Amino acid sequence: MPHDHPHHHDHPHDHGHDHGHGHEGSELSPMDLRVRALESLLVEKGYVQPAALDALIETYETKIGPRNGAQVVAKAWSDPGFLAWLRRDASAAIHSLGHTGRQGEHMVAVENTPEEHNMVVCTLCSCYPWPVLGLPPTWYKSPAYRSRAVIDPRGVLADFGVTLPEGTRIRVWDSTAETRYLVIPMRPAGTEGWSEARLAGLVSRDSMIGTALARRPEEVAA
Ligand code: FE
Repeated sequence: MPHDHPHHHDHPHDHGHDHGHGHEGSELSPMDLRVRALESLLVEKGYVQPAALDALIETYETKIGPRNGAQVVAKAWSDPGFLAWLRRDASAAIHSLGHTGRQGEHMVAVENTPEEHNMVVCTLCSCYPWPVLGLPPTWYKSPAYRSRAVIDPRGVLADFGVTLPEGTRIRVWDSTAETRYLVIPMRPAGTEGWSEARLAGLVSRDSMIGTALARRPEEVAA
C-alpha cells in the first residue's frame, strides 16, 4: 500500500530544546541542523519569508487543533442530519464547517456505541487528521502505541484509564496517507438541551482518537 509521509517533514518549529538534564542547551540535533540549513537556504533564495513560515507554524499550533474536531462532534451529537452526513461522507461534512487542509483530504468518521468502541492508530508512522485534531501528540507517534494498539487495544485503553464494559467490542482503525479517521465518542448522559458550544467542551482530543471517553458534565463543572 502506498504510504508516503509528507507530514514527517512538518515539524521545523520543533527546535525547542530541553535545557535541563545535563544536556548542552545550545547543541542542535542533526535533524535541527538540517531543518535550519533548509530554512536558511529557502529564505536566502527568496522562496519563503521567515514570517510566512512562522505564520504557518502558528496556525497549526494555535488555530488548527482539537477544538475543530470537538465542534464537528458536538454538531453530530446535536443534529442527526449532520451525523448521517458525517458517517456517509465525513470529508464533505467536515469541510462544510470550514475545516480543510492537508492531511484531511479523505476523512472517515467512526461512531462509538455501547456495542462498539473505535480507536485510531497509524501502525506505520503517524498519519493523523490535521484539520480536525491539529498536530499528533507524542504518544501517538511512539512505537509502543503503534504496535500495542493493534495487539492489545484493551490494555492500551487501561493505560489511558479507560475501562469499557466486557461486551463492548474494540475496533482499531489503521490510518494511512490516504484515509484519516475521526472517532465520534458517545454523548455523555445528563447533557440534554446543551448548546453545541457547551457540548464541544466535553470533547477531548483523546476522545476523538479513541483513547478516552468524552468528559462527563461533572468533570467540567466549576
Ligand atoms: Fe502515518
